[in-house]
Amino acid sequence: MMATAPLWVVIVTILALAQVASSLVTRRIDCNISTATSYVETCFCFYSGGCLSLFECQENHTWNTCQILHCGEKTLDITSSTASFFNIKDHGDVLTIPRKHYRDIAHLVDCEAKPIAIELLEHLLKDGRRVFIEKKHVSPEYQCFHRQHFTTVSWLHLHTFIGFVPGEGLPGTSATAACVFANVTIKDAAQRLWTAIDGQQS
Ligand SMILES: [Zn+2]
Repeated sequence: MMATAPLWVVIVTILALAQVASSLVTRRIDCNISTATSYVETCFCFYSGGCLSLFECQENHTWNTCQILHCGEKTLDITSSTASFFNIKDHGDVLTIPRKHYRDIAHLVDCEAKPIAIELLEHLLKDGRRVFIEKKHVSPEYQCFHRQHFTTVSWLHLHTFIGFVPGEGLPGTSATAACVFANVTIKDAAQRLWTAIDGQQS
């Protein structure tokens, strides 16, 4: 005669399976907020105002001087949510990053509620444009994110530039990057980026 499992075992098992199934449906990627691991990511963390304890800064050095000594670039602008600095390989390109660490655009769009993701996208777009104009005295043409798996640094970063960034393969194609023209409104640009990223991943 076959032994039957007690009712509570059946219920617990069903609940556990339901939880796994729902996590598979709603979580397409790992949403844990990770810490910077590579040296470049640690420098992005440093540019964003964090990771100070990981770098030995001399007392007579400013934060910017210490950044240049250890990472090669310095923070051009910092707000409560973003930091901007030059692409170390191409000073025609301004990078703007969230101060909170997201690995890439999929991590942000998949793991935050839409209003939070849109608000951060708007800040990144706005600050990227502002810093580009302040430093280059001309309006940018493109603002682009690498798509997931096409990024070399696992810290979400928006590229703001004119023409091409050959070393980054930008603006690239819709398969490799999500780009907007920098002359559309910030609200429009954020919505287009969100749709481009969310639409492709669904
Ligand atoms: Zn990049």
